[in-house]
Amino acid sequence: MLKRNKIKVTFYGGAGQVTGANFLLQEENGLKILFDCGLVQGKKIGEEMNRDAFPYNPAEIDYLFVSHAHIDHIGRIPKLVRDGFHGKIISTPPTKEIAEIMLVDSLGILGKEAKHDNKPPIYDEDDCRKTMELWQEGIPYNKEFTIGNFTVRLSDSGHILGSSMTELVWTDGPTGFQKRKLIYTGDLGNSPSIILRDTELIADADYLIMESCYGDRNHEPRDASRGMLEDTIENTVKRNGALIIPAFSIEKTQEILFEIKRMMEESRIPLIKVFLDSPLAIKVTEVYKKYHNYMNAEAMKLFNIDPEEGLFAFPQLHQTPTTEESIAIKNFANPKIIIAGSGMSNGGRILHHEKNYLPDPNSTLLLTGYQSVQTLGRIIQEGEKSVRIMGETIPVKASVVTITGYSGHKGSDDLLEFVSDTADQLKKAYIVLGEPKSSLYFVQRVRDALAVNAMAPVYGESVILDDED
Ligand SMILES: [Zn+2]
Repeated sequence: MLKRNKIKVTFYGGAGQVTGANFLLQEENGLKILFDCGLVQGKKIGEEMNRDAFPYNPAEIDYLFVSHAHIDHIGRIPKLVRDGFHGKIISTPPTKEIAEIMLVDSLGILGKEAKHDNKPPIYDEDDCRKTMELWQEGIPYNKEFTIGNFTVRLSDSGHILGSSMTELVWTDGPTGFQKRKLIYTGDLGNSPSIILRDTELIADADYLIMESCYGDRNHEPRDASRGMLEDTIENTVKRNGALIIPAFSIEKTQEILFEIKRMMEESRIPLIKVFLDSPLAIKVTEVYKKYHNYMNAEAMKLFNIDPEEGLFAFPQLHQTPTTEESIAIKNFANPKIIIAGSGMSNGGRILHHEKNYLPDPNSTLLLTGYQSVQTLGRIIQEGEKSVRIMGETIPVKASVVTITGYSGHKGSDDLLEFVSDTADQLKKAYIVLGEPKSSLYFVQRVRDALAVNAMAPVYGESVILDDED
């Protein structure tokens, strides 16, 4: 009897929660591989538990695969490095570039929070520099390579620019009598996207570690969202107000810019001033321009009509990187559109605009992304008539509109369809990266609809993959 090659997976983050992705795969007497190493996020960006020691020795990890550059998937990497990790970091080229911008940006936010709490920051500039030294040159989608006993491939998950699923293939014995394939999905995009390619289909996975952010609900269709955005802009213009859009700097901002540009070009909305008031989003938008060949066919075609201008620029768009420019936005007459971070109004320049325009009944606040419990965005969304912003009580008289169709995550039906393509081969699906009610609901859907063995692991739970069959 040949010795079987035991593979163990432990769920150290993103188990029973959306943020803090961190999964460890260990090969018996072989490689130790991490998938993602994200910040746990809540009311504050750097939740207290991010300070805890890792439940494994970072110095023993050989590889870290990074699915995409959202901070809840990359935000603890510099701490991992600070705590001894010196292995290789692997991702696509856009993920590497956006991640560097995001990590440098997070230094400022985490530093401020640490000062406020009178504690040292979780990591510093030097840790970020060392992180980028360990980050290997980006690997394009669908290029096979090997690490130890594994054949690896990154495929397009369609979530944000450069986002990938990681596929590991191994044989479960030294002479290779049985092939096994595991796929870690990272976050799965809400395909079809305006900019990105569709999530690649998978047909032959034996094991899935997959996200379930919206495991228990669906989004409104994309066309309905576009109509709502158009109506919201038109109504604000009619009332001569300002349209304030808190937006996440990766993907959401670029999608909204692209939509507004198209609506203006097609004369569906008036040509009013649009301010992109986020230094972070301005930098990330440049990476989108650079990697336009990662976009879908239609977006690339439009890009190639005017590569200089790109997909996200138009004559009415004003970028305001400096503080002075940001402050000066209020001097421009209405109607106007202001896009600023953060997406949940828990910090950033959006707070200044909310202070200025929430008391104005002719203005509109447009929410396009998930608003986490306790954030200012959520409080306003739930209809609070007055809120505290930077120490002041601000009345909310502006209209508040929510559009869900611009979500970057698959809804429940699309998640199920994704699993169904590989259901015949699948031995087990591990459902992670969702709130418990969402993950558990989706586990049940997978079992009932596809007769596939599925479970939602709890924090710290380990499974041996070869024991499953
Ligand atoms: Zn994400």
